[in-house]
Amino acid sequence: MPAKKSTRAQKAAKAKKAGEPLATYRAKRDFEITPEPSPEVQLPESDHPRFVVQEHHATALHWDFRLERDGVLPSWAVPKGIPPDPKVNHLAVQTEDHPLSYIDFAGEIPKGEYGGGTVKVWDQGWYELEKWDAREVKFTLHGERVQGRYVLIKTRGKQWLMHRMDPPQDPTREPFPSGLRPMLAKKGTLPKDDGDFGFEIAWGGRRVLIYVEGGRIEVDDADGTNVSDRYPELTRLGRAVGSTEVVLDGELVALDDNDQPQPGVPPDRQDLESDSALRRAARDHPVAVMLFDILYCDGHMTTDLPYTERRKHLEALKLSGANWQTPSFHKGDGAALVRAAGGQGLPGVVAKRLDSGYAAGKRSGDWVLVAADR
Ligand code: MN
Repeated sequence: MPAKKSTRAQKAAKAKKAGEPLATYRAKRDFEITPEPSPEVQLPESDHPRFVVQEHHATALHWDFRLERDGVLPSWAVPKGIPPDPKVNHLAVQTEDHPLSYIDFAGEIPKGEYGGGTVKVWDQGWYELEKWDAREVKFTLHGERVQGRYVLIKTRGKQWLMHRMDPPQDPTREPFPSGLRPMLAKKGTLPKDDGDFGFEIAWGGRRVLIYVEGGRIEVDDADGTNVSDRYPELTRLGRAVGSTEVVLDGELVALDDNDQPQPGVPPDRQDLESDSALRRAARDHPVAVMLFDILYCDGHMTTDLPYTERRKHLEALKLSGANWQTPSFHKGDGAALVRAAGGQGLPGVVAKRLDSGYAAGKRSGDWVLVAADR
């Protein structure tokens, strides 16, 4: 609606001339539609300057970092979130100053409005300022989640880098891994010590490891080839995981017209070249990933944990959507599951020793693939 736009633009220009600090913030929003606070709502300044990190599920997931200063909130959008590790800097894009009352804001910005999508408070607290000039802002955060010394460094235009100056908050933190390979099962028969095993459906799909960092995913196939581009319908899994860093193990299966997994190998889409062909395939012949294990979670490798503990970490993520599922496992009574799998035309079950670790890249007798009777 061009008429509405020009009125807003004119208002903004007027306000800017009058020296109103939040003119840009005001110009981008219609306060009759968005639940975001209008600049008139003012909170008192507190003893310590405050900060907030808001997780913003807009067109692209990002985290908005805002520091209280001179009665407003200078703001940066950080696509991968607050960096936990001094070795990995994150891009931060400066956005318009927000009103102080935005520091508590959480809610749903209507679709089609500026920044449409869900906003959640990811962290909040206060900060100590060391330095604030045009190119560098240095401070120590005292948040509920994040504590530590950080610097924002301007690189070019609105682009800044966010760097953690302190060691990782968790001194036992392990770096985010890469190049892992899945653990493989041996073929065999149902184990005699049935109660020492967990039983999962074998889907006969395509094995993948999925790396999720800062809400972005990388999908590797079993030999380590990055196949992320082939499965655009999985990108939103990153949003579902949010800021937790994880490496997941699972199987890709094709979905039928009723969105039910089809046993057998999903289309590998090897013959599809263009992005548009891949997007079409994702729409017309989507896949789902059946998740069954976790190799890294929130700063720690989980491969040495027993299967049951890893399953707890995995299930805590509550990953269940149209294109990803976390099927449950059954303790003991493998024969019943083998019969059920056969009845549904599934290839079989995998028996996993409950107290066994994850032997990445190895074929291990702790996992036994038991074929279903046909
Ligand atoms: Mn935002």
